[in-house]
Amino acid sequence: MVAYKSKMVERISLPSREQRERNLEAAGYNVFNLDAADVFVDLLTDSGTGTMSDAQWAALIRGDEAYAGSSSFDRLESAVQDVMGFPYVVPAHQGRGAENVLYGTLLSEGDVALNNTHFDTTRAHVANQGAEPVDCPVDAAHDPDSDEPFKGNFSVERAREVVDEVGAENVPVVVSTITNNSAAGQPVSVENTRAAREFADEIDATFVIDACRFAENASFVTEREATFTNASVADVAREQLGYADALVMSGKKDGLANAGGFVATTDRDLYEACKQRAILYEGFPTYGGMAGRDMAAMAVGLREAVEEAYVADRIDQVRELGAALEAAGVPIYTPTGGHAVYLDAEAIFPTVPAGQFPGQVLVCELYREGGVRGVELGSFAFPNTDRPELVRLALPRRTYHREHIEHVVDTAAAVLENRTEVTGLRIESEPEIPELRHFTAELEPVPS
Ligand SMILES: *Cc1c(COP(=O)(O)O)cnc(C)c1O
Repeated sequence: MVAYKSKMVERISLPSREQRERNLEAAGYNVFNLDAADVFVDLLTDSGTGTMSDAQWAALIRGDEAYAGSSSFDRLESAVQDVMGFPYVVPAHQGRGAENVLYGTLLSEGDVALNNTHFDTTRAHVANQGAEPVDCPVDAAHDPDSDEPFKGNFSVERAREVVDEVGAENVPVVVSTITNNSAAGQPVSVENTRAAREFADEIDATFVIDACRFAENASFVTEREATFTNASVADVAREQLGYADALVMSGKKDGLANAGGFVATTDRDLYEACKQRAILYEGFPTYGGMAGRDMAAMAVGLREAVEEAYVADRIDQVRELGAALEAAGVPIYTPTGGHAVYLDAEAIFPTVPAGQFPGQVLVCELYREGGVRGVELGSFAFPNTDRPELVRLALPRRTYHREHIEHVVDTAAAVLENRTEVTGLRIESEPEIPELRHFTAELEPVPS
């Protein structure tokens, strides 16, 4: 059921088709290069793009900008304690800042970190410590048609194989990312979290939860895990997070804020070590690179994230987008996860050769057809891997209405209908680091 009404609005408009054509060409067929004002429905990411509540704006005005001892930090700390159950909190400017603080403290050269699936920035921070990131997803994660309820789970079996190979003494960190962002936002069960924790204890590793979407994950648990069908989202969140020694959090996701993040832990020594590293990279431990007002807004956002009405509205919107796309015959990854719907570009464009970026072609066609911006997560974003050619439509929190969703579905259906007319793309110029090319590279249509 709808849980909000608007009291502040932002004007949007759909540029003409000719203008959209020109914009695409000027952007080098890379939608990261578009001006946001030229986008009608922006589903590039759900990170920091959501709408804050009136209560968050009110808290923001009262933000305490003191360098040390800010009362806004106290509010954030209390929110983390109440909602997540962790006594010690080290703020950071966003999730990757928190990753630098935590993984820089826990990992060193030659170590191995295990994760259900490393999110891009997590992988980069593990590698930046000279450690090796190894993914341990369950098999179903890679099957877009499997209807298993917890395709985001951490595979203890796979993790055991890795430990047998590299030795337990070289694996100081086990991470569960909830929901599993890089596996189509699929949830992780509480039972699996408990098993991952036990496994971490067995090998004497620190068990970390990447809690970016902990509330969305908890909502799926109340729907799908028998033991928790009568539990509240707030109770499940506390129980699930309670298995971890430490959390890394991006406030731009289930903090319902536009900026910010933190590390939280139950371990006093780890807390002290993280604080020292945070001072070096983020800021004094009562602001950590955030403005006081941003901490104040996130403190309120964390509490709102576990309200039943919020999280039901959120998950329902993603599910509705997925169902409507399926009804229109658009192939998607199922079941839909917590924050986005993933379109299968290979199935949509069987005539676009594999080397000509079918996913990026789909991203461009969605913009050309309806001013909709998504993001490619296939061979363009991840060169030299065998990822499926997926395009992600991520929904900003509390931002778009049913009319926007209908427009996106109509746009995708029109792209599908004109599928035979599209041509592939090739790279015209790209930056030196291939892993980051999808942010800035320029492409051009392959002449047919
Ligand atoms: C977004 C995200 C991060 C990084 O957070 P930022 O705020 O973007 O730096 C880390 N892990 C996961 C799972 C994420 O989704």
